[in-house]
Order: sequence, then structure tokens, then C-alpha cells
Amino acid sequence: MYYHIVLTERCNLKCKYCYEKSMKEFENGLEKKWTYDDKAPFDSAVKGENLKNFLVDGDTLIFYGGEPLIMIDKIEEIIKSLDGKNIRYYIQTNGILLNKLPDEILKKISKILVSIDGDKEIDGFNKGKIHYDMAVRNIKILRERGFRGEIVARMVMAPPYCFDVKKQVLHLVKLIKEGLFDSIHWQIDAGFYKNDFDFDSFSDYVKKYNTSVQELVTWWLSELQEGRVWKIYPFFGILARIKKWDTETRLPCGAGYANFTINTYGKISACPIMNSVENFYCGSVEEGPNKLREIKIVDEKCRSCSYFDICGGRCLYWRSAKLWPPEGDELICKTIKNIIDSIREITPKIDLLLKNQTLKEEDFSFEKYFGPEIIP
Ligand code: SF4
Ligand code: SF4
Repeated sequence: MYYHIVLTERCNLKCKYCYEKSMKEFENGLEKKWTYDDKAPFDSAVKGENLKNFLVDGDTLIFYGGEPLIMIDKIEEIIKSLDGKNIRYYIQTNGILLNKLPDEILKKISKILVSIDGDKEIDGFNKGKIHYDMAVRNIKILRERGFRGEIVARMVMAPPYCFDVKKQVLHLVKLIKEGLFDSIHWQIDAGFYKNDFDFDSFSDYVKKYNTSVQELVTWWLSELQEGRVWKIYPFFGILARIKKWDTETRLPCGAGYANFTINTYGKISACPIMNSVENFYCGSVEEGPNKLREIKIVDEKCRSCSYFDICGGRCLYWRSAKLWPPEGDELICKTIKNIIDSIREITPKIDLLLKNQTLKEEDFSFEKYFGPEIIP
């Protein structure tokens, strides 16, 4: 099982699509629809000792925030308490404190997801001028210190400006070639706030974004034909479902059945974004792993959609909160259908590469449920 653990709700950055938008989102109606749990403190009060009774061998714990590296002492305490158990540790971070990780923790961490929104210009626009250089410098330092685990570049494609996913992925591929990252994921910042929807502007965005996705898929195929497989999570995950290498049809992120979130006082929620929403609680550390209940997408539109087995409904939060009007959600679905259709279109050509042994199925293997949500 995969567990994100929220170590703190605090963050050391003020990203446009997170901090700035949430500051403007006073009234979105969710307070009436859902019950927010105000007992969760800002910083995690969950003890390593409690986790020891809860986690079982083979589980994966993903340190998450806010910014989890503000809480290095907590990470240390948890890892020490779980000594002797077979747990995998990952971190999802903005990267600016990565250089502070002591060696004894670093050697326990096997994957790191670093948020970076592409090149310096676009990343700086979203996350502030210093972020790109600090994140890249720190990843270099980690590599020099011998970190060989996977480092995933996690991009947010934020409308209206960040539409050119091909340009940004190619930039990150350059950083893969330099040995910094191993893989790439992105999600569009769409449908997560009530007050950021504008039909004309988002329609225009979808056109440009979809074109860029198509061009990226064409480029990815041309690389595959040369025997070069760039690990782009949305492409890997969608291809795996098309090819039935992955026979799961539920949410590709695993929220609510394979991937849960431990909030700051030990309640377990279906997803990090809803970590203190009681409607999405699935259990608690105290009650133990056997008492976890599954939460499913119940959206009628998804259930009757021909893309559902691959898309899974994209995101439990988006599908449940319904912050955008139906025409906005339709536009988001257009992006999903476009990326799935684009991968479907090249699948016969990938089949040929597999048949003539230019590539093997294992070249497309990837780990599910630890963070890259697959459907952008
Ligand atoms: S494309 Fe849209 S309607 Fe169809 S399954 Fe995905 S989220 Fe649901
Ligand atoms: S895709 Fe949505 S439901 Fe899944 S982890 Fe991300 S925010 Fe949560």
C-alpha cells in the first residue's frame, strides 16, 4: 500500500497556482458540501511508534506537505522508529531544502519527486525566481553525494500561460540527459479552484495545449523508433492501460484504494488534497490497515464514458468537488480524450517496435500510485 504522510501544511514557497489561488478562494461552497476537520494541526503529531503498528512490510511511505523538508527532524524520527521494518521511503518536495538531507536519511530514501514547472522562465513565473536554480543545484548535489534513486520532475501546467507542454518536457529531457532527473510527470491546474475558470480563455488554452500534446506524442514516438524511451508518466500509464499491461480501471493515481494519505493527526484520507475532509476519511492509523474503507468515483458521466477504463475519472477531488461549471469540466475531458487518442494512435507503431524487438515491454514498466497521477 502507498501512504502519503502530511508532515506539515506549511510551505516555504508561495506558488501562483497553490498559495496565490487559495488566498483568493474564500467562498467555493465546499464548506457547505463537505465537513472539514478542524482538529488537524499544521504540523504532524503522528508518532513514528504509531506508524510502526500501522504499516506493514512492503508498504511505501511518501513524505509530503506543505513542504516536507521543513520537517527533517520528523522524517528522522519516523525512519528511526520504523527501523527493522521493510518500508520504502519517498519524498515529494519543491527541492529547495534537498541539500539539507543528512546522509543517514538520504540513504533510506529511494525516490524523490521534485516540483519544477519546466524551464527557468516558466518555473520562475509560477514558483518565484530563485526556485529553479536552487532545485537544480540541489539535485546536482544529491547526485554527487551518490543518490541513484529515481528523481521525478513534477510539472504543473497552469493556464493560461503554460500550455506548451512539448517545450517544457523537452527542457526536462535535457535535464534527464544531464543525469539530474529520470522521469517526467505533469498535471494541468484545471478544475481545482472555483474562481479561476474563464470559458474563452480556457477554450483557447485547451486548443493550444492539445496541439502541443499531439506534437509531444509524435516526438516521443520518433525517439522510441530510435530505441530511446523517455519515461513520461502520462504516456506510460495510458499506454499500459491501452495495452492491458495494466488491467486496473479505477483512478490511475490510486486515491482511495491503493494510495492513501495520513493527515497530521493520524486520520487517513483518500487523497492529499482532501486530507482533512471527513467525507473522504477511509480510516485512521489508530484503527489499523485492516479497517481501511475504499472510496470510489461515483460520477455518472464518467461511468458512461467510453474513456473511463483508461481515464478512471482523472481525479477524485475534481470529480467530487465540481468547482467548475459543466462546460469547464467538458473542456478538461477534451484534454483527457486528446491525450488518450494520441497515444492510441501511435500504439500500432509501438506494437511494431515490440514485435521487431527494437523495444521490450519492460522498457515501459513503471511504478504506480506513488505520486504521478497519470491523467494530467
Ligand atoms: S474523460 Fe471525463 S467523463 Fe470520461 S472518464 Fe475521464 S473524467 Fe470521466
Ligand atoms: S489525481 Fe486527484 S484524487 Fe488523485 S491524488 Fe491527485 S488530487 Fe488526489
